Amino acid sequence: MDPFVVAGGDAAGLSAASKCKRESPDRDVIVFEKGQWVSYAHCGTPYFVKGEVEELTNLVSLTPDDVATRDIDLRRGHEVVDVDDAAKTVTVEGPDGQFEQAYGDLLLGTGARAIRSPFDGLDLLGAFTLHGLPDAAAIRAFVDASFDPHEAALGPMDPATLDRFANVPAPEAAAVVGGGYVGVEMAEALTAQGLDVHLFQRGSHLLPPFGPAVGEAVADELADEGVTVHTDTAVEAIEGDGRVERVAYEGGSVSVGAAVVGIGIEPNTALAEAAGADLGDSDAVAVDRYGRTGVDGVYAAGDCAESRNTVSGEPTWVPLGLTANRAGRAIGATVTGDPTPVGDIACTAVVKAFDLGAGRAGFVTEAAAREAGFEPVTETITAGSRSGYYPGGAETTVTLTADRGTGRVLGASVVGADRAAKRIDTVATALDAGHTVAELERLDLAYAPPFSPVWDPILVAAKVLGGSV
Ligand SMILES: Cc1cc2nc3c(=O)[nH]c(=O)nc-3n(C[C@H](O)[C@H](O)[C@H](O)COP(=O)(O)OP(=O)(O)OC[C@H]3O[C@@H](n4cnc5c(N)ncnc54)[C@H](O)[C@@H]3O)c2cc1C
Repeated sequence: MDPFVVAGGDAAGLSAASKCKRESPDRDVIVFEKGQWVSYAHCGTPYFVKGEVEELTNLVSLTPDDVATRDIDLRRGHEVVDVDDAAKTVTVEGPDGQFEQAYGDLLLGTGARAIRSPFDGLDLLGAFTLHGLPDAAAIRAFVDASFDPHEAALGPMDPATLDRFANVPAPEAAAVVGGGYVGVEMAEALTAQGLDVHLFQRGSHLLPPFGPAVGEAVADELADEGVTVHTDTAVEAIEGDGRVERVAYEGGSVSVGAAVVGIGIEPNTALAEAAGADLGDSDAVAVDRYGRTGVDGVYAAGDCAESRNTVSGEPTWVPLGLTANRAGRAIGATVTGDPTPVGDIACTAVVKAFDLGAGRAGFVTEAAAREAGFEPVTETITAGSRSGYYPGGAETTVTLTADRGTGRVLGASVVGADRAAKRIDTVATALDAGHTVAELERLDLAYAPPFSPVWDPILVAAKVLGGSV
Protein backbone atom coordinates (compact mmCIF):
# COMPACT_ATOMS: atom_id res chain seq x y z
CA MET A 1 0.00 0.00 0.00
CA ASP A 2 1.27 3.48 -0.83
CA PRO A 3 2.34 5.52 2.19
CA PHE A 4 0.29 7.79 4.38
CA VAL A 5 1.72 11.17 3.45
CA VAL A 6 1.33 14.20 5.69
CA ALA A 7 1.93 17.84 4.76
CA GLY A 8 2.78 19.79 7.93
CA GLY A 9 4.76 18.58 10.91
CA ASP A 10 3.00 20.08 13.88
CA ALA A 11 -0.13 19.41 15.91
CA ALA A 12 -2.45 17.91 13.31
CA GLY A 13 0.21 16.33 11.11
CA LEU A 14 2.32 14.63 13.74
CA SER A 15 -0.69 13.48 15.77
CA ALA A 16 -1.96 11.72 12.67
CA ALA A 17 1.41 10.27 11.75
CA SER A 18 2.02 8.95 15.27
CA LYS A 19 -1.44 7.39 15.61
CA CYS A 20 -1.20 5.74 12.20
CA LYS A 21 2.20 4.26 13.03
CA ARG A 22 1.03 3.07 16.44
CA GLU A 23 -2.02 1.28 15.00
CA SER A 24 -0.38 0.06 11.83
CA PRO A 25 3.39 -0.25 12.30
CA ASP A 26 3.92 -1.70 8.81
CA ARG A 27 2.38 1.27 7.02
CA ASP A 28 4.95 3.73 5.66
CA VAL A 29 4.32 7.22 7.01
CA ILE A 30 6.08 10.25 5.52
CA VAL A 31 5.76 13.73 7.02
CA PHE A 32 6.88 16.70 4.93
CA GLU A 33 7.46 19.89 6.93
CA LYS A 34 8.48 22.97 5.04
CA GLY A 35 10.18 24.58 8.04
CA GLN A 36 12.82 23.28 10.40
CA TRP A 37 10.69 23.10 13.56
CA VAL A 38 8.33 20.20 14.17
CA SER A 39 5.99 19.35 17.05
CA TYR A 40 6.21 22.79 18.59
CA ALA A 41 3.80 24.79 20.75
CA HIS A 42 2.64 28.07 19.21
CA CYS A 43 0.59 28.39 22.40
CA GLY A 44 3.71 28.78 24.54
CA THR A 45 5.32 31.49 22.43
CA PRO A 46 3.89 34.48 24.38
CA TYR A 47 5.34 32.94 27.55
CA PHE A 48 8.73 32.58 25.88
CA VAL A 49 8.63 36.25 24.90
CA LYS A 50 7.68 37.02 28.50
CA GLY A 51 10.71 35.10 29.73
CA GLU A 52 8.59 32.70 31.78
CA VAL A 53 9.59 29.89 29.43
CA GLU A 54 13.34 30.24 29.33
CA GLU A 55 14.40 28.47 26.18
CA LEU A 56 12.75 28.25 22.79
CA THR A 57 13.48 24.53 22.68
CA ASN A 58 11.31 24.08 25.80
CA LEU A 59 8.37 24.60 23.42
CA VAL A 60 9.17 21.48 21.43
CA SER A 61 7.26 18.37 22.34
CA LEU A 62 8.89 15.77 20.05
CA THR A 63 12.37 16.29 18.63
CA PRO A 64 13.14 14.99 15.12
CA ASP A 65 14.95 12.10 16.84
CA ASP A 66 11.81 11.30 18.87
CA VAL A 67 9.83 11.27 15.64
CA ALA A 68 12.38 8.98 13.99
CA THR A 69 12.10 6.62 16.98
CA ARG A 70 8.43 6.25 16.06
CA ASP A 71 9.58 5.05 12.63
CA ILE A 72 8.04 8.07 10.94
CA ASP A 73 9.93 9.30 7.87
CA LEU A 74 10.17 13.01 8.73
CA ARG A 75 11.54 15.32 6.05
CA ARG A 76 12.15 18.84 7.30
CA GLY A 77 12.79 21.62 4.80
CA HIS A 78 10.39 19.93 2.38
CA GLU A 79 7.37 21.83 1.12
CA VAL A 80 4.50 20.06 -0.57
CA VAL A 81 3.69 22.36 -3.48
CA ASP A 82 1.13 20.45 -5.51
CA VAL A 83 -1.29 17.53 -5.40
CA ASP A 84 -2.32 15.36 -8.34
CA ASP A 85 -5.42 13.68 -7.01
CA ALA A 86 -5.87 11.53 -10.12
CA ALA A 87 -2.35 10.10 -10.00
CA LYS A 88 -2.38 10.22 -6.16
CA THR A 89 0.97 11.95 -5.98
CA VAL A 90 2.24 15.10 -4.33
CA THR A 91 4.98 17.34 -5.68
CA VAL A 92 7.56 18.19 -3.05
CA GLU A 93 10.27 20.83 -3.07
CA GLY A 94 13.24 19.94 -0.92
CA PRO A 95 16.87 20.90 -0.55
CA ASP A 96 17.76 18.63 -3.50
CA GLY A 97 15.06 19.95 -5.80
CA GLN A 98 11.59 18.84 -6.77
CA PHE A 99 10.24 15.29 -6.77
CA GLU A 100 6.97 13.37 -6.86
CA GLN A 101 5.79 11.21 -3.97
CA ALA A 102 2.95 8.70 -4.30
CA TYR A 103 0.38 8.52 -1.49
CA GLY A 104 -2.30 6.10 -0.49
CA ASP A 105 -3.81 8.61 1.94
CA LEU A 106 -2.84 12.26 2.22
CA LEU A 107 -3.39 14.57 5.19
CA LEU A 108 -3.19 18.31 4.73
CA GLY A 109 -2.14 19.67 8.11
CA THR A 110 -0.78 22.91 6.73
CA GLY A 111 -2.07 25.20 9.48
CA ALA A 112 -2.65 28.90 9.06
CA ARG A 113 -0.66 32.10 8.71
CA ALA A 114 -0.82 35.44 10.46
CA ILE A 115 -2.78 38.10 8.63
CA ARG A 116 -0.33 40.78 7.58
CA SER A 117 -1.64 44.17 8.51
CA PRO A 118 -3.92 46.05 6.17
CA PHE A 119 -1.73 49.08 6.97
CA ASP A 120 1.86 50.03 6.19
CA GLY A 121 4.89 49.48 8.33
CA LEU A 122 5.14 45.74 9.00
CA ASP A 123 8.47 45.69 7.14
CA LEU A 124 10.08 48.05 9.67
CA LEU A 125 12.59 46.70 12.18
CA GLY A 126 10.62 46.11 15.37
CA ALA A 127 7.29 45.28 13.71
CA PHE A 128 6.22 41.67 14.15
CA THR A 129 3.46 39.15 13.82
CA LEU A 130 3.60 36.10 16.07
CA HIS A 131 3.10 32.82 14.28
CA GLY A 132 5.81 30.31 14.94
CA LEU A 133 8.98 29.93 16.96
CA PRO A 134 11.19 32.10 14.73
CA ASP A 135 8.81 35.05 15.29
CA ALA A 136 8.90 34.46 19.04
CA ALA A 137 12.70 34.35 19.01
CA ALA A 138 12.90 37.58 17.03
CA ILE A 139 10.53 39.41 19.39
CA ARG A 140 12.38 38.14 22.49
CA ALA A 141 15.74 39.16 21.01
CA PHE A 142 14.32 42.61 20.25
CA VAL A 143 12.65 43.40 23.57
CA ASP A 144 14.77 41.55 26.11
CA ALA A 145 18.21 43.15 26.45
CA SER A 146 19.43 40.23 28.56
CA PHE A 147 18.61 37.67 25.87
CA ASP A 148 21.71 36.62 23.93
CA PRO A 149 20.81 34.52 20.89
CA HIS A 150 24.34 33.10 20.80
CA GLU A 151 23.91 31.72 24.33
CA ALA A 152 20.31 30.55 23.91
CA ALA A 153 19.00 27.09 23.00
CA LEU A 154 17.58 27.86 19.58
CA GLY A 155 17.30 24.36 18.15
CA PRO A 156 17.57 24.46 14.37
CA MET A 157 17.73 28.27 14.23
CA ASP A 158 20.94 30.06 13.31
CA PRO A 159 21.52 32.61 16.10
CA ALA A 160 23.02 35.01 13.54
CA THR A 161 19.54 35.47 12.03
CA LEU A 162 18.57 37.18 15.28
CA ASP A 163 21.52 39.60 15.44
CA ARG A 164 19.62 42.39 13.71
CA PHE A 165 17.01 42.20 16.48
CA ALA A 166 19.44 41.74 19.36
CA ASN A 167 22.10 44.27 18.35
CA VAL A 168 19.92 47.35 18.73
CA PRO A 169 18.81 49.05 21.94
CA ALA A 170 15.68 47.42 23.36
CA PRO A 171 12.55 49.57 23.00
CA GLU A 172 10.93 51.25 25.98
CA ALA A 173 7.40 51.11 24.62
CA ALA A 174 5.45 48.78 22.37
CA ALA A 175 2.12 48.70 20.59
CA VAL A 176 0.08 45.55 20.43
CA VAL A 177 -2.39 45.74 17.56
CA GLY A 178 -5.40 43.51 18.08
CA GLY A 179 -7.29 42.64 21.23
CA GLY A 180 -7.80 38.94 20.66
CA TYR A 181 -6.15 36.30 22.81
CA VAL A 182 -2.73 36.67 21.17
CA GLY A 183 -2.87 40.44 21.70
CA VAL A 184 -3.86 40.07 25.35
CA GLU A 185 -1.15 37.50 26.02
CA MET A 186 1.45 39.65 24.28
CA ALA A 187 0.39 42.74 26.27
CA GLU A 188 1.17 40.78 29.42
CA ALA A 189 4.45 39.42 28.01
CA LEU A 190 5.78 42.79 26.87
CA THR A 191 4.74 44.47 30.14
CA ALA A 192 6.64 41.77 32.02
CA GLN A 193 9.66 42.62 29.87
CA GLY A 194 9.45 46.15 31.26
CA LEU A 195 7.91 47.85 28.24
CA ASP A 196 5.24 50.50 28.34
CA VAL A 197 2.47 48.77 26.36
CA HIS A 198 -0.37 50.25 24.29
CA LEU A 199 -3.01 47.75 23.20
CA PHE A 200 -5.20 48.75 20.26
CA GLN A 201 -8.56 47.16 19.59
CA ARG A 202 -10.71 48.23 16.66
CA GLY A 203 -13.98 47.20 18.34
CA SER A 204 -15.45 48.27 21.63
CA HIS A 205 -14.36 45.17 23.60
CA LEU A 206 -11.29 43.02 23.93
CA LEU A 207 -11.69 39.30 23.23
CA PRO A 208 -14.98 39.61 21.26
CA PRO A 209 -15.76 35.86 21.20
CA PHE A 210 -15.71 35.89 25.02
CA GLY A 211 -18.48 38.51 25.24
CA PRO A 212 -18.52 41.94 26.87
CA ALA A 213 -18.34 40.83 30.54
CA VAL A 214 -14.99 39.16 29.91
CA GLY A 215 -13.80 41.93 27.60
CA GLU A 216 -14.45 44.59 30.22
CA ALA A 217 -12.89 42.62 33.06
CA VAL A 218 -9.77 41.90 31.00
CA ALA A 219 -9.48 45.55 29.90
CA ASP A 220 -9.68 46.62 33.56
CA GLU A 221 -7.04 44.06 34.54
CA LEU A 222 -4.68 45.19 31.77
CA ALA A 223 -5.17 48.83 32.79
CA ASP A 224 -4.49 47.96 36.44
CA GLU A 225 -1.22 46.38 35.34
CA GLY A 226 -0.18 49.50 33.44
CA VAL A 227 -1.28 48.67 29.87
CA THR A 228 -2.92 51.56 28.03
CA VAL A 229 -5.96 50.01 26.36
CA HIS A 230 -7.27 51.85 23.29
CA THR A 231 -10.66 50.38 22.36
CA ASP A 232 -12.65 51.60 19.34
CA THR A 233 -9.30 52.57 17.86
CA ALA A 234 -8.18 51.29 14.47
CA VAL A 235 -4.45 51.53 13.82
CA GLU A 236 -3.76 53.18 10.47
CA ALA A 237 0.00 52.77 10.12
CA ILE A 238 3.18 51.71 11.83
CA GLU A 239 5.66 54.46 11.09
CA GLY A 240 9.39 55.07 11.34
CA ASP A 241 12.59 55.50 9.45
CA GLY A 242 13.82 51.92 9.04
CA ARG A 243 12.76 51.08 12.58
CA VAL A 244 9.38 51.36 14.32
CA GLU A 245 9.02 54.81 15.88
CA ARG A 246 5.29 55.28 16.30
CA VAL A 247 1.87 53.86 15.61
CA ALA A 248 -0.69 56.14 14.00
CA TYR A 249 -4.43 55.83 14.50
CA GLU A 250 -7.39 57.99 13.65
CA GLY A 251 -6.99 61.14 15.69
CA GLY A 252 -3.51 60.54 17.05
CA SER A 253 -0.30 58.62 17.31
CA VAL A 254 1.82 57.13 20.05
CA SER A 255 5.61 56.78 20.17
CA VAL A 256 6.69 53.15 20.43
CA GLY A 257 9.80 51.23 19.49
CA ALA A 258 8.08 47.95 18.69
CA ALA A 259 4.73 46.77 17.35
CA VAL A 260 3.24 43.29 17.52
CA VAL A 261 0.32 42.81 15.17
CA GLY A 262 -2.14 40.09 16.18
CA ILE A 263 -5.19 40.73 14.06
CA GLY A 264 -5.98 37.15 13.19
CA ILE A 265 -4.92 34.28 11.00
CA GLU A 266 -6.03 32.80 7.70
CA PRO A 267 -5.99 29.11 6.77
CA ASN A 268 -3.34 27.71 4.39
CA THR A 269 -5.59 26.15 1.78
CA ALA A 270 -3.57 26.37 -1.45
CA LEU A 271 -2.74 22.65 -1.41
CA ALA A 272 -6.30 21.66 -0.69
CA GLU A 273 -7.45 23.77 -3.59
CA ALA A 274 -4.75 22.23 -5.80
CA ALA A 275 -6.16 18.83 -4.86
CA GLY A 276 -9.63 19.97 -5.91
CA ALA A 277 -11.07 20.14 -2.38
CA ASP A 278 -13.85 22.57 -1.56
CA LEU A 279 -13.51 25.43 0.89
CA GLY A 280 -16.33 26.26 3.28
CA ASP A 281 -17.90 29.66 3.97
CA SER A 282 -15.08 30.37 6.39
CA ASP A 283 -12.53 29.87 3.58
CA ALA A 284 -11.01 26.95 5.47
CA VAL A 285 -11.16 23.45 3.96
CA ALA A 286 -14.59 21.84 4.15
CA VAL A 287 -14.42 18.36 5.66
CA ASP A 288 -16.87 15.69 6.78
CA ARG A 289 -17.01 14.16 10.26
CA TYR A 290 -13.97 11.99 9.47
CA GLY A 291 -11.87 14.89 8.19
CA ARG A 292 -12.34 13.79 4.56
CA THR A 293 -12.23 16.57 1.98
CA GLY A 294 -14.36 14.80 -0.60
CA VAL A 295 -11.32 14.14 -2.78
CA ASP A 296 -10.48 10.44 -2.67
CA GLY A 297 -7.88 9.72 0.00
CA VAL A 298 -7.33 13.39 0.92
CA TYR A 299 -7.98 14.57 4.50
CA ALA A 300 -7.52 17.96 6.15
CA ALA A 301 -7.18 18.78 9.84
CA GLY A 302 -6.17 21.54 12.22
CA ASP A 303 -6.00 25.24 11.48
CA CYS A 304 -6.47 24.77 7.73
CA ALA A 305 -9.80 22.94 8.11
CA GLU A 306 -13.32 23.58 9.32
CA SER A 307 -14.98 21.65 12.14
CA ARG A 308 -18.61 21.04 13.03
CA ASN A 309 -20.05 23.23 15.76
CA THR A 310 -21.34 21.18 18.71
CA VAL A 311 -24.26 23.53 19.34
CA SER A 312 -25.46 24.48 15.86
CA GLY A 313 -24.26 21.42 13.93
CA GLU A 314 -22.97 23.83 11.27
CA PRO A 315 -19.44 24.05 9.87
CA THR A 316 -17.28 26.51 11.76
CA TRP A 317 -13.64 27.60 11.84
CA VAL A 318 -12.18 28.16 15.29
CA PRO A 319 -8.54 27.14 14.96
CA LEU A 320 -7.24 25.87 18.29
CA GLY A 321 -4.75 23.35 19.60
CA LEU A 322 -6.92 20.50 20.84
CA THR A 323 -9.00 20.62 17.68
CA ALA A 324 -5.87 20.07 15.58
CA ASN A 325 -4.40 17.31 17.78
CA ARG A 326 -7.71 15.48 18.13
CA ALA A 327 -8.62 15.61 14.45
CA GLY A 328 -5.10 14.54 13.44
CA ARG A 329 -5.21 11.59 15.82
CA ALA A 330 -8.65 10.53 14.56
CA ILE A 331 -7.52 10.67 10.93
CA GLY A 332 -4.41 8.67 11.85
CA ALA A 333 -6.75 5.93 13.09
CA THR A 334 -9.13 6.22 10.15
CA VAL A 335 -6.41 5.65 7.56
CA THR A 336 -5.52 2.38 9.29
CA GLY A 337 -9.06 1.11 8.73
CA ASP A 338 -10.59 2.24 12.03
CA PRO A 339 -13.01 5.02 11.02
CA THR A 340 -12.87 7.59 13.84
CA PRO A 341 -14.83 10.86 13.85
CA VAL A 342 -12.70 13.98 14.32
CA GLY A 343 -15.26 15.27 16.86
CA ASP A 344 -17.32 18.43 17.00
CA ILE A 345 -16.08 21.60 18.68
CA ALA A 346 -17.83 23.75 21.25
CA CYS A 347 -15.25 26.45 20.41
CA THR A 348 -14.00 26.19 23.98
CA ALA A 349 -11.15 28.59 24.72
CA VAL A 350 -9.33 29.96 27.74
CA VAL A 351 -6.99 32.91 28.14
CA LYS A 352 -4.87 34.44 30.88
CA ALA A 353 -4.45 38.17 31.41
CA PHE A 354 -2.06 38.79 34.30
CA ASP A 355 -3.99 37.54 37.37
CA LEU A 356 -7.26 36.99 35.53
CA GLY A 357 -8.35 33.86 33.73
CA ALA A 358 -11.25 33.70 31.30
CA GLY A 359 -13.02 30.94 29.42
CA ARG A 360 -15.73 30.69 26.78
CA ALA A 361 -17.69 27.95 25.05
CA GLY A 362 -20.58 27.77 22.59
CA PHE A 363 -22.53 30.92 21.71
CA VAL A 364 -21.86 33.48 24.41
CA THR A 365 -23.51 36.61 23.10
CA GLU A 366 -27.16 36.86 22.16
CA ALA A 367 -26.18 38.29 18.78
CA ALA A 368 -24.06 35.22 17.92
CA ALA A 369 -26.77 32.83 19.16
CA ARG A 370 -29.45 34.64 17.20
CA GLU A 371 -27.34 34.51 14.05
CA ALA A 372 -27.12 30.75 14.52
CA GLY A 373 -30.91 30.55 14.53
CA PHE A 374 -31.67 30.41 18.26
CA GLU A 375 -33.88 32.59 20.43
CA PRO A 376 -31.37 33.38 23.14
CA VAL A 377 -31.78 34.53 26.69
CA THR A 378 -28.74 35.49 28.76
CA GLU A 379 -27.88 36.18 32.39
CA THR A 380 -24.63 37.40 33.89
CA ILE A 381 -23.95 36.67 37.55
CA THR A 382 -21.05 37.21 39.92
CA ALA A 383 -20.35 34.68 42.66
CA GLY A 384 -17.48 33.71 44.93
CA SER A 385 -14.93 31.16 43.74
CA ARG A 386 -14.63 29.51 47.21
CA SER A 387 -16.67 29.45 50.41
CA GLY A 388 -16.84 33.03 51.65
CA TYR A 389 -14.94 32.25 54.87
CA TYR A 390 -12.09 30.46 53.10
CA PRO A 391 -9.11 32.64 52.11
CA GLY A 392 -7.98 33.11 48.53
CA GLY A 393 -11.37 33.41 46.85
CA ALA A 394 -12.22 35.93 44.16
CA GLU A 395 -15.31 37.12 42.37
CA THR A 396 -16.18 34.96 39.41
CA THR A 397 -18.42 36.35 36.70
CA VAL A 398 -20.40 33.93 34.56
CA THR A 399 -22.48 34.78 31.51
CA LEU A 400 -24.79 31.93 30.55
CA THR A 401 -26.87 31.84 27.39
CA ALA A 402 -29.72 29.45 26.62
CA ASP A 403 -32.43 28.97 24.02
CA ARG A 404 -35.71 30.37 25.28
CA GLY A 405 -37.95 27.80 23.65
CA THR A 406 -36.10 24.61 24.51
CA GLY A 407 -34.10 25.68 27.56
CA ARG A 408 -31.00 24.23 25.90
CA VAL A 409 -27.70 25.69 27.06
CA LEU A 410 -26.09 27.55 24.14
CA GLY A 411 -22.90 28.87 25.64
CA ALA A 412 -21.15 30.67 28.46
CA SER A 413 -18.18 32.72 29.49
CA VAL A 414 -16.46 32.90 32.84
CA VAL A 415 -13.85 35.28 34.22
CA GLY A 416 -12.13 35.74 37.55
CA ALA A 417 -8.84 35.76 39.39
CA ASP A 418 -9.18 32.41 41.18
CA ARG A 419 -8.97 29.48 38.76
CA ALA A 420 -11.99 30.74 36.86
CA ALA A 421 -10.98 29.85 33.31
CA LYS A 422 -11.16 26.05 33.49
CA ARG A 423 -14.64 26.21 35.05
CA ILE A 424 -15.76 26.61 31.44
CA ASP A 425 -15.09 22.89 30.93
CA THR A 426 -18.32 22.13 32.82
CA VAL A 427 -20.24 24.15 30.25
CA ALA A 428 -18.32 22.61 27.34
CA THR A 429 -19.38 19.20 28.65
CA ALA A 430 -22.99 20.33 29.04
CA LEU A 431 -22.96 21.63 25.46
CA ASP A 432 -21.67 18.32 24.19
CA ALA A 433 -24.41 16.50 26.10
CA GLY A 434 -27.05 18.93 24.80
CA HIS A 435 -28.10 19.77 28.36
CA THR A 436 -30.86 22.21 29.21
CA VAL A 437 -30.31 24.87 31.84
CA ALA A 438 -32.30 22.71 34.30
CA GLU A 439 -29.99 19.76 33.62
CA LEU A 440 -26.92 21.96 34.04
CA GLU A 441 -28.30 23.22 37.34
CA ARG A 442 -28.72 19.64 38.57
CA LEU A 443 -25.11 18.59 37.85
CA ASP A 444 -23.34 17.17 40.87
CA LEU A 445 -20.27 19.41 40.84
CA ALA A 446 -17.59 19.03 43.47
CA TYR A 447 -17.59 21.19 46.59
CA ALA A 448 -15.14 21.81 49.42
CA PRO A 449 -14.36 25.29 50.80
CA PRO A 450 -10.84 25.67 49.27
CA PHE A 451 -12.12 24.84 45.80
CA SER A 452 -15.65 26.14 45.43
CA PRO A 453 -18.70 27.40 47.26
CA VAL A 454 -21.48 24.83 47.72
CA TRP A 455 -23.03 26.27 44.59
CA ASP A 456 -20.31 26.53 41.97
CA PRO A 457 -20.58 29.85 40.05
CA ILE A 458 -21.67 27.90 36.96
CA LEU A 459 -24.56 26.40 38.98
CA VAL A 460 -25.47 29.84 40.32
CA ALA A 461 -25.71 31.12 36.75
CA ALA A 462 -27.88 28.14 35.79
CA LYS A 463 -30.19 28.76 38.76
CA VAL A 464 -30.62 32.42 37.81
CA LEU A 465 -31.05 31.79 34.09
CA GLY A 466 -33.46 28.94 34.87
CA GLY A 467 -36.00 31.56 35.93
CA SER A 468 -35.94 33.19 32.49
CA VAL A 469 -35.98 30.35 29.94
C1 LIG B 1 0.67 32.83 19.46
C2 LIG B 1 -0.29 31.69 19.45
C3 LIG B 1 -0.83 31.25 20.64
C4 LIG B 1 -1.74 30.20 20.65
N1 LIG B 1 -2.28 29.81 21.84
C5 LIG B 1 -3.20 28.82 21.85
C6 LIG B 1 -3.77 28.38 23.06
O1 LIG B 1 -3.44 28.90 24.16
N2 LIG B 1 -4.69 27.39 23.03
C7 LIG B 1 -5.06 26.79 21.85
O2 LIG B 1 -5.90 25.89 21.87
N3 LIG B 1 -4.51 27.17 20.67
C8 LIG B 1 -3.59 28.16 20.65
N4 LIG B 1 -3.02 28.53 19.46
C9 LIG B 1 -3.46 27.84 18.23
C10 LIG B 1 -2.73 26.52 18.03
O3 LIG B 1 -1.36 26.72 18.17
C11 LIG B 1 -3.07 25.96 16.66
O4 LIG B 1 -4.45 25.72 16.63
C12 LIG B 1 -2.33 24.67 16.32
O5 LIG B 1 -0.95 24.85 16.35
C13 LIG B 1 -2.75 24.19 14.93
O6 LIG B 1 -2.00 23.09 14.58
P1 LIG B 1 -1.83 22.72 13.04
O7 LIG B 1 -1.00 21.48 13.01
O8 LIG B 1 -3.12 22.73 12.36
O9 LIG B 1 -1.03 23.96 12.39
P2 LIG B 1 0.42 24.52 12.72
O10 LIG B 1 0.76 24.33 14.13
O11 LIG B 1 0.46 25.90 12.18
O12 LIG B 1 1.37 23.59 11.83
C14 LIG B 1 1.26 23.56 10.44
C15 LIG B 1 2.62 23.18 9.89
O13 LIG B 1 2.50 22.93 8.50
C16 LIG B 1 3.67 23.40 7.84
N5 LIG B 1 3.32 23.59 6.44
C17 LIG B 1 2.46 24.49 5.93
N6 LIG B 1 2.34 24.31 4.59
C18 LIG B 1 3.13 23.28 4.28
C19 LIG B 1 3.42 22.61 3.05
N7 LIG B 1 2.83 23.00 1.91
N8 LIG B 1 4.29 21.58 3.06
C20 LIG B 1 4.88 21.19 4.22
N9 LIG B 1 4.64 21.79 5.42
C21 LIG B 1 3.76 22.80 5.43
C22 LIG B 1 3.99 24.67 8.59
O14 LIG B 1 5.34 25.05 8.41
C23 LIG B 1 3.66 24.28 10.04
O15 LIG B 1 4.79 23.77 10.71
C24 LIG B 1 -2.10 29.56 19.43
C25 LIG B 1 -1.54 30.00 18.22
C26 LIG B 1 -0.65 31.05 18.22
C27 LIG B 1 -0.06 31.52 16.91
